[in-house]
Amino acid sequence: MIATVEPGRNGPLVAGVDVGGTKISVVVTDDQDSILYEQVTPTDRSSLVSQIAGLVDDARRQLRQDVSAVGVAIPGRVDPEDGSVSMAVNLGIDHLPLGPMLQTLLGIPIFVEHDARAAALWLSKQAAVESAQAPASLAFLAIGTGISAGVVLDGVLLRGDNSSAGEVGHVAADPDGVVCACGLRGCLETIAAGPAIARQADEAMAAGRRSSLAPHSSAADVFRASSAGDEVALEIIDRVADHLARAIRSLALTLGVKRVVIGGGVAAAGPALLQPIQARIALECAASPLVQAALGDATVELLSPTEAPGARGAAAIARHRVGLREREGVGER
Ligand SMILES: [Zn+2]
Repeated sequence: MIATVEPGRNGPLVAGVDVGGTKISVVVTDDQDSILYEQVTPTDRSSLVSQIAGLVDDARRQLRQDVSAVGVAIPGRVDPEDGSVSMAVNLGIDHLPLGPMLQTLLGIPIFVEHDARAAALWLSKQAAVESAQAPASLAFLAIGTGISAGVVLDGVLLRGDNSSAGEVGHVAADPDGVVCACGLRGCLETIAAGPAIARQADEAMAAGRRSSLAPHSSAADVFRASSAGDEVALEIIDRVADHLARAIRSLALTLGVKRVVIGGGVAAAGPALLQPIQARIALECAASPLVQAALGDATVELLSPTEAPGARGAAAIARHRVGLREREGVGER
């Protein structure tokens, strides 16, 4: 999508880039946070930095206007101060000085943020605008190639002293489970991330289970088969929903959030993902007054597939940090 830009009418433009394990989303926004340009393309892990620079250059060319700054949202351990990302296990990144490298290639300020945090910041900003009330508290649970959460509490984005606030993908879910890309065993990611769902289907096939699933089915195939009543797929999705409901319960009990938005590639499964999670939460609420008090009136919802909160959040962070305009309401820390 490319809008017509009239020089001087849209204010300084910023780009937001959301780097995922399978796709990269790019938006360019004006000073009213309107999207002027939007692009989604498969991730090229072998030349990630030059791919991002090329995508921003494409946007500049097609809009025929420069951008003042770029925000990049990326998984892994992100240092927003020096723009580096490390331990992005699902992108094969050990350590990458992403911000400085992009700044050299593009010649404009670059701001790097954790992808789920950028998305959470954007969603909370939207919620604050819509409700016209105090900044919101929410968690954005990203389920794709990996799993992580971004948390905004009372309008403040949480990072923590170890920059690991919200990394729920690597909390223990099954101590006897398979080894995770992070080196630990049985992380939530090894059960409920997209590749893990596909792997469990293959394991069931290899064990001789009868199923309508074809060999090497994707996570989306497994969700479709579960909706159609396939027994193997139903078992896998039940287990996935069970563990995700526990993760949501943990977010509600440890952080106090009452709104959880689920996004990422796996969220495209829609009701086939959301309904079993909500059913599990309802069971937990019925069994425990404690959980009922924490989660009984909570909202657990799916992100609309047309939204790109990671890229929008990255753009908003870039605009905020480059000081292009005063931002109110939602703060960063
Ligand atoms: Zn792990």
